[in-house]
Amino acid sequence: MAASPALGQHSLREQNIALVAREIFGAPTPVSRADVAAATGLTRATVSALVDRLIEARIVVELAPAPARRAGRPAVPLAPAPRTIISLGLEVNVGYLAGTVLDLTGATLATATVPGDFHASDPAAVLARLGALTAELLAAARAVADGARLAGVRVALPGLVDSATSTLRVAPNLGWAELSPVDTSAIAAHTGSAPITIANEAKLAALAQVPALGAEAQTASSFLYVSADVGIGAAIVLDRELFLGGRGWSGELGHVVVDPAGPLCQCGATGCLEQYAGTDAVLRAARLPRGSSVADLLRAVADGDGPASAALDRAGHALGAALADFVNLIDVPTVLLGGAYSELADLLEPVILAELETRVLSAPWSSFMVDRAPVGVGAATIGGARASLADVLDDPTPWLVGA
Ligand SMILES: [Zn+2]
Repeated sequence: MAASPALGQHSLREQNIALVAREIFGAPTPVSRADVAAATGLTRATVSALVDRLIEARIVVELAPAPARRAGRPAVPLAPAPRTIISLGLEVNVGYLAGTVLDLTGATLATATVPGDFHASDPAAVLARLGALTAELLAAARAVADGARLAGVRVALPGLVDSATSTLRVAPNLGWAELSPVDTSAIAAHTGSAPITIANEAKLAALAQVPALGAEAQTASSFLYVSADVGIGAAIVLDRELFLGGRGWSGELGHVVVDPAGPLCQCGATGCLEQYAGTDAVLRAARLPRGSSVADLLRAVADGDGPASAALDRAGHALGAALADFVNLIDVPTVLLGGAYSELADLLEPVILAELETRVLSAPWSSFMVDRAPVGVGAATIGGARASLADVLDDPTPWLVGA
C-alpha cells in the first residue's frame, strides 16, 4: 500500500519522536542528544530538533551539564520531566477502593486507599464513589503539579474485562456481570478529555512489578504474577511486556484444573485451583470461623493448628502443581506472589518450589524463583498509572505544542 509522501513523512516523524522519547525514558542514566543519535541511528540534527520539541512539550527536561571530559561543550543530560504530565490508576477491590497519581518520572503525586465492603455491590454506587476519589486525588496532585496535563485513567477491576469495548463480562466477587460498557461517567466528570480505560486488576498489578530500567533489578523482566483474593488473578509478563492473549483474558490460573474429580467451582467446572488455593477455600478448609482473615490463618498455623496447617499445605501443593504446568509450557521460571499470597509467601514458597522441582521437566537444569511481589498494596493503581504514561511515550505527537 503506497502512502502519500506527505503522510509518509508525517508518520515517520511521529515514529522518530517516539523512538527518541523511548531512548531518553529507557536509559538507566540520563543521556545526551549525542547518545540518543548514536543509539537510534538518527542524525544529530534530527535528534536535536525532536528533543527540542519534547522539551517544549514539557515531556523531557535538560539537567545541569556534567563537566566535559574533553575540550568543547559539555553534554547536556536529558531526563523525564517532573510534574508536567500525570496519570491516574484506580482500583475497585472487594475490600477497598484505591487510586494513585504518577508523573512521567514515576514519582507518586497522590495516593489513597478507602476501605469498604464491595462484595455483591451496586456498580453505579461504587463507580460514583470512585468518581469522588478521582476528584480528591487529582486535586491533591495538582496542588503539587500546577497545570499538569492528565494522560489517561486506568480502572482496575477484578474480573474478565474487554478493554477495547470497555466491557466487564464478570467480576464474581463484586457480584458484577455484563456491564457493557462500564459506566465511567462519574470519573469522566473530573478528568476532562483524558481517555478512561478499564482493565483486569492482576494485569495492571503485574505491570507495577516490572523493574525500572537500569535499577538494580530485584525482579526478572519475565515472570508470572499470581495474586490471591477470593479468586486468583494472574498475569504473564514477557520481557517487560504483558502477554494478554487474544482478548486480554490470559492468566486465568484460578480455573486451571487441579483435580477433575474435585469440588464444583463458581465457573461451573470442577476441581479448579481456586477451590484449593483461593482464600475463601483455604479459610473454609482451615475450619476457621466465618469472616476470618488471612492474618487469622497465619496465627492458627503459628499456633500449630492442624486443619489450618493442612489447608495451607494443600493450597501450596495445588498452586505449585498449577504453576509447574505453566513453567513446563512457557519456560519462565520466576513467580511473584501478590495479594493474600504475599502475606503467605514465607509458608508457600518452599511448598511451591518443591512442586516445581518435582514436576518441571527441565528442573535439573533450571533455577526457579518464587518470591513475594516487590510492590504490594495499590499495585494495580501503580501499574494502571504506568500504562497510561507508557501510552504518551508510545505516541508523544498529540502532546506536542501546536499538535
Ligand atoms: Zn473454575
